[in-house]
Amino acid sequence: MRSHYCGGIDESHIDQDVTLCGWVHRRRDHGGVIFLDLRDRDGISQVVFDPDTPDSFSLAEKVRSEYVIQVTGRVRRRPSGTENANMPTGQVEVLGTALTILNAAATPPFPLDEHVDVGEDVRLRYRFIDLRRPEMLNRLRFRSRVTSYIRNFLDRQEFMDVETPILTRATPEGARDYLVPSRTHEGSFFALPQSPQLFKQLLMVSGVDRYYQIAKCFRDEDLRADRQPEFTQIDIEASFINEDILMGLTETMIRDLFRDVLQVELPEFPRMPHAEAMQRYGSDKPDLRIPLELIDVADLVASVDFKVFAGPANDAKGRVAALRVPKGGVISRKQIDDYTKYVGIYGAKGLAYIKVNDLGKGAEGLQSPIIKFLGNDVALAIIERVAAEDGDIVFFGADKTTVVNEALGALRVRIGHDLKMLTKEWAPMWVVDFPMFEETSDGGLHAIHHPFTAPSCTPEQLIASPEAALSRAYDMVLNGTELGGGSIRIHDEAMQQTVFRILGIDEEEARAKFGFLLDALKFGCPPHGGLAFGLDRLVMLMTGATSIRDVIAFPKTQSANCLMTQAPGLVDEQQLRELHIRLRKPSVKQVPDSIGNVEPSE
Ligand code: ASP
Repeated sequence: MRSHYCGGIDESHIDQDVTLCGWVHRRRDHGGVIFLDLRDRDGISQVVFDPDTPDSFSLAEKVRSEYVIQVTGRVRRRPSGTENANMPTGQVEVLGTALTILNAAATPPFPLDEHVDVGEDVRLRYRFIDLRRPEMLNRLRFRSRVTSYIRNFLDRQEFMDVETPILTRATPEGARDYLVPSRTHEGSFFALPQSPQLFKQLLMVSGVDRYYQIAKCFRDEDLRADRQPEFTQIDIEASFINEDILMGLTETMIRDLFRDVLQVELPEFPRMPHAEAMQRYGSDKPDLRIPLELIDVADLVASVDFKVFAGPANDAKGRVAALRVPKGGVISRKQIDDYTKYVGIYGAKGLAYIKVNDLGKGAEGLQSPIIKFLGNDVALAIIERVAAEDGDIVFFGADKTTVVNEALGALRVRIGHDLKMLTKEWAPMWVVDFPMFEETSDGGLHAIHHPFTAPSCTPEQLIASPEAALSRAYDMVLNGTELGGGSIRIHDEAMQQTVFRILGIDEEEARAKFGFLLDALKFGCPPHGGLAFGLDRLVMLMTGATSIRDVIAFPKTQSANCLMTQAPGLVDEQQLRELHIRLRKPSVKQVPDSIGNVEPSE
């Protein structure tokens, strides 16, 4: 129906006849001449109708915003002075000779002008219209370029694209499962995969050797701004490799991707042990663009009378750390109050600080509500430790280590942005040497990555001190966001059983839940490992979008529903009965069955 896309018309088409199809972006009636901006996925062309072609002119008078039309006409140079340098097609216009209205359109719920601020609820409700906006379409196009680049890269590296089931059993990644009731097996449920983890490992046992999949994953978690209940992973697994090979390969993939689609040359990817990342940045995904670090001062305050500091300084699970902000003396009292509230979100009970006004005056030159509790000598020793200078401010965190890390780690990032301290645009890195386990609130142990990650030690060492064991896991981090994570896996049944035991999964439960994996490990499982990248986050970072929803065609809201389709929705009694389900509390009017009976629901 068309000869060109609207966005593809330029001076090289002058004097040619073209046929364009698309949506009427804007219509202007300039007394005797009608201008239509015609839009398709590639851009906008200006089409002019004048009364010399009376039939099409009168049709052009009828069209309204978002009508779908086909136009034929001749490309000509725009009259001098009417060019539009901001439009790729702005040097030319099409003198329309024929117009067909392919479909009328009701007035759209919001104008498609990029500059119009529309509430996200309305955009999500009418997503099909929202996606017409060039900004949104361009993001989808960008996402498609990313996936196509990655597929090509992995194909070239001889990875095989294999699909794994969506209806499956629980695949433990530590989140809640989405369940699907079985009609044919009364009382049984499928779980949607939290990731293809176990299947990709089984593919290694099968000899696939190199696997990838752009895979949908489902996790029923309380949503944060950058989470979706269903999201997409670039999921990778390979056999007969070690962490260096896998990290090298995926680093090349990301580096090449940035070069190819963004024309960005990423700097070195430093590798940092998890313990160092926590120590220096309070985070397992440090944003290395920000030149601020946490510095331990517990030894300096261990014997002061000030319990707020001395308590955590003498607690094996406590931490007292300082964050020096060069030139941070400009931070106002009100701003400090805001930061105090901010660290409160992470459990910090306050935010102590020392402003360095004039070091030449010794402790006199320091300004802080806590110096009287610390004593001058301790205050000066801290200032020396963090190498603070006149005009700086030093913030403190003193609490359980986890609270200090989270609170000061988040404050570090917040201040880095507020004071515009970013030293570069892109800061990629690897975090390695994660601990195998972390303690749960009930005193048990929980696998930090997942229970299939190989430890760096022998089973005997693992059993002797599981809390101290490190794992062969690695995370790729970019600008403080975890882009992807993975590990070398356990390929030995006894080691897998050991890890299950440490996690409190006894043999019976292990057999019931992961019998197929334990069997597979017995039947010749090669050494293997892999990782998964979060595609949505990757595209969000690359496009500079502020929300993950902006890089997903049909996302869910923060409360995990779809405003457009109104999913999740209610189902009728008949369907529930087929699934052998009776609701505990009917949230709906009961729908009568085919013979008019209404089933009591409790
Ligand atoms: N399955 C893991 C995840 O979803 C990634 C991996 O270990 O490959 O985080």
